[in-house]
Formats: sequence, structure tokens, C-alpha cells
Amino acid sequence: MKRSSILIIYTGGTIGMKTDEATGALVPFDFSGIYEEFPSLKRLNVDIEVLTIKPPIDSSNVSVENWVVMARLIRDNYSKYDGFVVLHGTDTMSYSAAALSFMLENLAKPVIFTGSQIPIGILRTDGRENLITAIEIAGSRNEEGRPIVPEVALYFQNKLMRGNRTTKFSAEALNAFASFNYPDLAEVGVSIQYNSAHIAPYAPDFSDEFRISESLSDDVIVVKLFPGIRPSTLRAMLIDSGVRGVVLETYGAGNAPTSEWFVELVKEAIAKGVVVVNVSQCKDGAVQMHLYETGLALQEAGVVSGHDMTIEAAVTKLMYVLGKKLPLSETLSLMRRPLRGEFTL
Ligand code: ASP
Repeated sequence: MKRSSILIIYTGGTIGMKTDEATGALVPFDFSGIYEEFPSLKRLNVDIEVLTIKPPIDSSNVSVENWVVMARLIRDNYSKYDGFVVLHGTDTMSYSAAALSFMLENLAKPVIFTGSQIPIGILRTDGRENLITAIEIAGSRNEEGRPIVPEVALYFQNKLMRGNRTTKFSAEALNAFASFNYPDLAEVGVSIQYNSAHIAPYAPDFSDEFRISESLSDDVIVVKLFPGIRPSTLRAMLIDSGVRGVVLETYGAGNAPTSEWFVELVKEAIAKGVVVVNVSQCKDGAVQMHLYETGLALQEAGVVSGHDMTIEAAVTKLMYVLGKKLPLSETLSLMRRPLRGEFTL
């Protein structure tokens, strides 16, 4: 089979650090010298080129502008490469993978995010394996020559996951990411076992031509409920802030207080045209607003179910959908259905 061509987009993060032999300090690794550093890469059936976002960033600083830069790089190089590997800091990698999954419309090629917990230039690094396997996955094609993973995914510690289903759950473990509510797309051991039935089963929306959406709305907030939250605090967040989208982090299966003041505030926000999406504080499981009286009140107030979406996916989907500046009914309709497999109906 013909060699695949892969573009690595290096954005920053721990994976890009190595020890300076002279000083012992951590310094940025130059990915353009990737073959000298990892000669074994030549044995993969891929040709690699590297682009670096300047300056590389700690991912805690990632912004909507950075996502637009990443999306444009993919768009501008889309026809030239068979797949893309995005090297990213781990802290916000799930947000970026989710954002890109929405921004890259009608994507038909692999975009694989990865990073590491230990710098690539440290002997015990997890970055080497993450990088090499991410490249292999991005370049993998089936017998018909089609990419095996034509979606935005995140590879970390032997698991390939749908990008918009992931969460970083550990600041310590090398196995730092999980997809609690969707099966892994592949498991990596001696060989790569693809879970084909769960890879890109959703139909691309809008049209077949690949394009990017660059306008994300930052008029979005996350409101995490906690017992004892004051009416004035909630009013400041839901109404006075003037936001257009709220991810409401509720309890359990999507439950919230039934107190009159609480329900009235949510109704007031919705009457003003604010889109309120209900996502559970539990990582595992889904919002089911009809289950308890405490959830039903939200459903009746017009809150949109986030089903089993991650916070990362809910925030970035709201940014993406509100960025389209559609009439409210169309905005709600896009929020109510999965666009890139981000929730299970
Ligand atoms: N703070 C770093 C970042 O997210 C951590 C990492 O890469 O693991 O950029």
C-alpha cells in the first residue's frame, strides 16, 4: 500500500520538552528533527512533516483564536495529507479536541490529538509511544484505501477515544484520559484493535465538502450547582451577565433544586433567549430529566438535555452553534441532536 502522508501540528505542552544536556533544564524539543530523534519512525509506512504554532503554548492558555489557527492549518493542508496529528498540552486537550470536532465540518480524514504527562526528552516519557502510535493511527487505511479513523480522536496510553467524548481525569496517572460514556475507538496492545462499529457512524451534516467554521461564540458560561448557592449569585450568572449560552452542571441524572426561586430564574433566562443545556456533574451516565421531579421542572422550563455529553463537549458545542448566529429554533434544534457523535440518544 502507498505510503501515507501525515502532518504533525505541534501546539505546545509537556510533550514538547526535553532536557538540555548542558544545563539540565527543560527546553522545547524541535519536532522538525523528529527523524533524528526517533529513527524508528522511518519504519512506519508514513511520510511526516511538522508545523509548529508560534509560539508554542501551555494548553492552559489555549484560546478560541488558537483553535481557529489549528482549524485553518488543517483546512489549508487538507488535500496534501492523509491524516493529521495534533500535539497538545494535556490540560485542555479535551476542550480543543471537542472544539475541533465541531469546527471541522464534513471531516473525512483522521485528526488525532495526543500529548504526554512526562516530557518527550525524559527517559521514562509516555510521549514517545503516544506520538508514534498516534502517527500510525492517523496513517492507517483499510483495504479500499480509506482512512480507518475519519474523525477527531484523542490517543493516550493505549486508548483511542472520540475526541469530543474525552475528559482529563488525572493530573498524575499516565492513563490520564477517559471516555466514560462512549466505547474506545481502538485499544492498543501488541497490535491496534479498531472498534470499527463505533468509529464515525454519524452522517456528516450540511454538505459533503470539507470546510471549517471559524466563528465561535464566547458568550457561554458553565454554572455548577452546589447546595447553598444563593439566588443573587445565580441571577448574576444567568441573567445579569447577558450570556447567550449556559451549561448547567446539575446533580446525578440531571436534577436541580425544585425551589421556586431557582426554577423561576431558569425560566426567566430561557424567556430572554438564553440556551440552557443540562449536563450532569457525574462523569459516567446521562441526564434523564423525566426521571425525578427535580429534573422534570428543568425540562418543563425549556432546558435542553445534554444527555451524556462531557462538559468540554457541551461548552464547545454551544460556542460553535451560537457562533452560527441562527434563529433560536434552529440553534435549539442543533443543540438537541448529536452533530459529531458527542452524545448518545
Ligand atoms: N500544562 C501542560 C499543558 O497542558 C501540561 C501537559 O502538557 O501535560 O500544556
